Amino acid sequence: MSRSHDFFAAAQRHIPGGVNSPVRAFRSVGGDPVFFDSASGAYATDVDGKRYIDYVGSWGPMILGHAHPDIIGAVAAQIQKGLSFGAPTELETRMADAVCELVPSMDLVRMTSSGTEATMSALRLARGYTGRDKVIKFEGCYHGHVDSLMVKAGSGMLTLGEPSSPGVPAALAELTITLSYNDIDQVRETFDAIGSEIACVIVEPVAGNMNCIPPVPGFLEGLRELCTAHGAVLIFDEVMTGFRVSRGGAQGLYDITPDLTALGKIIGGGMPVGAFGGRREIMQQLSPLGPVYQAGTLSGNPIAMTAGLKTLELISAPGFHDALTAKTERLTDGLRERAAAAGIPLATNRAGAMFGLFFTDADAVTNFAQATACDQERFKAFFHAMLKRGVYLAPSAFEAGFVSAAHGDAELDATLEAAAAAFAEIAG
Ligand code: PMP
Repeated sequence: MSRSHDFFAAAQRHIPGGVNSPVRAFRSVGGDPVFFDSASGAYATDVDGKRYIDYVGSWGPMILGHAHPDIIGAVAAQIQKGLSFGAPTELETRMADAVCELVPSMDLVRMTSSGTEATMSALRLARGYTGRDKVIKFEGCYHGHVDSLMVKAGSGMLTLGEPSSPGVPAALAELTITLSYNDIDQVRETFDAIGSEIACVIVEPVAGNMNCIPPVPGFLEGLRELCTAHGAVLIFDEVMTGFRVSRGGAQGLYDITPDLTALGKIIGGGMPVGAFGGRREIMQQLSPLGPVYQAGTLSGNPIAMTAGLKTLELISAPGFHDALTAKTERLTDGLRERAAAAGIPLATNRAGAMFGLFFTDADAVTNFAQATACDQERFKAFFHAMLKRGVYLAPSAFEAGFVSAAHGDAELDATLEAAAAAFAEIAG
């Protein structure tokens, strides 16, 4: 038996399910999770010494690859000065300046310690600013484990939302309206009916938590138009897409200006971080300037700021995202070709350096219903066939994949070679 197996058994003694975040448990693909020991560049090495080409990248932050020497060096130097002060540092100003320069819709930005805190705070701010309580979200989008956002649709469009987890009060879930992603008509009908009650619309501008589903033309534009017309706040949750699908995130790629943006992952360079920000007029409602309360003991932590700042500096190099996008395209094109050669129907989606694989006959996958209709059993078999061959994909059919700057031709070639064999294996 593997050391991962033993470690997982030991982990279950005192950690619920043996993991500190559920998807890590491999529940949806089966088998023991792989315990990592170290990672460098495009590779992660497990506790048994096996090396994998990693397409998870700590679920998004490692856009430069693991353990980038410049980031490790900057963090090592900062650590000598102390780990946390709970008083302002100049690093926070440099981070805020960098974020607001890269994301022009953001005039002001507040740091948090996770993406969940960022979306939770953006939601409270939107409600406080508008004096309204209802929020619109989309099926299949994940915004962290925020009570108001752990809500699934009721039976009809305007019926009350239902908690998607026990522990979320029904009274709170009733304020959340969950609509179908990429269906702007539904959003328009909802606004027509109760527009004056809607505080905000929150959306992943490229959905990355139901596999990878980019917006159809007109969807984000429509959200912008409807929010403006009805005085609702448009929140882009760019925790995953920020600095990944383009230098300016999804809003840069699709040229839409949200009112508020939630960020995370890449801005922390692998340290625990989130941020939310946007229009000055709205952000000025935040404490200590305004009445909407929000805070954090470790918010703007100097080590996290250092890792994030170095990451933002390196990804701002000219051509960085074009090169990353081209690699991701080569990967998805190559995977489709290999699947076709093995007689396996496969569709792919891509936005910048984010990708999704769908075992389906459909030409396009544009919403949650289509994503869930894909062949999950085939995904499971493919996941394990790739894992065996040293390629670590996200252990769920509903997660996006990530390419990093450290994935070179050698890694892409090796991945495609593994995929050809894996497709042949699962076709047989
Ligand atoms: N929003 C999106 C789009 C995410 O993908 C995630 C996490 N994967 C979150 C919010 C929550 O971030 P965190 O896990 O840091 O709380």
